[in-house]
Amino acid sequence: MLSVWLVWDTVWIGLGVVVREYASLSHLHKQYFGFPGEILMRMLKLVILPLIISSMITGVAALDSEVSGKIGLRAVVYYFSTTIIAVILGIVLVMTIKPGVSQEAEHIDRTGTTPNVTTVDTLLDLVRNMFPENLLQACFQQVTIINITKDYKIVGSYSDGINVLGLIVFCVAFGLVIGKMGERGRILLEFFDALNEATMRLVQIIMCYMPVGILFLIAAKIIEVEDWEIFRKMGLYMVTVLSGLAIHSTICLPLIYFAIVRKNPYTFTLGMAQALVTALMISSSSATLPVTFRCAEENLRIDKRITRFVLPVGATINMDGTALYEAVAAIFIAQLNDYSLDVGQIVTISITATVASIGAAGVPNAGLVTMVIVLTAVGLPANDVTLIVAVDWLLDRFRTMINVLGDAYGAGIVQKLSRRELERMDVTSDVDVTNPF
Ligand code: ASP
Repeated sequence: MLSVWLVWDTVWIGLGVVVREYASLSHLHKQYFGFPGEILMRMLKLVILPLIISSMITGVAALDSEVSGKIGLRAVVYYFSTTIIAVILGIVLVMTIKPGVSQEAEHIDRTGTTPNVTTVDTLLDLVRNMFPENLLQACFQQVTIINITKDYKIVGSYSDGINVLGLIVFCVAFGLVIGKMGERGRILLEFFDALNEATMRLVQIIMCYMPVGILFLIAAKIIEVEDWEIFRKMGLYMVTVLSGLAIHSTICLPLIYFAIVRKNPYTFTLGMAQALVTALMISSSSATLPVTFRCAEENLRIDKRITRFVLPVGATINMDGTALYEAVAAIFIAQLNDYSLDVGQIVTISITATVASIGAAGVPNAGLVTMVIVLTAVGLPANDVTLIVAVDWLLDRFRTMINVLGDAYGAGIVQKLSRRELERMDVTSDVDVTNPF
């Protein structure tokens, strides 16, 4: 299956290159070309809301509060430790490879304006978002996203998205209450369980369209990129970020998984292939969530009580790829500026990169916005984020892929660590949410 996908992808990358070389398409024609891909993105985003609500509420209600507390704690410990490992790995690589040393900072356009974001603001915003004033409004939350112009200038922000964190907090509380209501809560539980099943069936239909949508997304992007030269200029920086992501996903995460679960981690990664390709194509962990659910539950047979809890939270706060990238990018910018960082500043970068990755929404380029926190924390000009904007669309795809993989490994590990509680519940409970399909 995977090889069919690879051949299919290669054909379309080739088509993108041919169209790019031989047909001079106007901006409008390029947009038409990407239209089938745009439709895929819209369909995936469409199911995020019912999926998060139904999976979180039923997931929490099916566990008793003591078990959900333990699962939650294990998930948070996993998220935090793997993010820190990713940040340390990024720092070691960027300090060794030194991609910014002896390069001319001037060759890249530094103009543009950046939003003024501080660490405290981000933390406060994070907590604020956990408690939405209005549930309906939380479904149309404004997400600040840097808008990048064709000449790589940052021109402000636009809104797009859902306050996922706020919805998660509400659904956890609601699920706990329903779980405690006994017979009277059962009708609600069955409703959300049926909603979950219906949404997953919709996801199944969307997945049939996925090969087509994804290929148009690839071809349209290849046609659209105007400055390939920039990749040569930023080569070493990109190599540093990509090697960090590769090491994290092929060595660090698999080792942790193997140490705890004692199963082949690479078979696990293969089971997630479709979600990883989707993340690579659409640069959004939130929009990939429906596919992540399907791969984890159907291919890897991870217990629904775990996926329903661990995956939506992970897609919002667990971003190893983003954290690694933020640490590398901040030190790269310091190197470009000939700015030497002391140990205290490096520690500050590790902490702020972790906070910045937790604060970043699971949408394209979100890491670029929260990057400003890391830069200001160590006294680097926030405006220098424009130095790395030009290649961000590509790095974003790869870091999103690692963000999704990290969430999936988290679900596998938490399932293993929680097997006793789950087995105990299987004996006492008669609500079957373990069998995904
Ligand atoms: N695009 C990433 C994600 O959705 C976030 C980022 O910009 O790093 O996971």
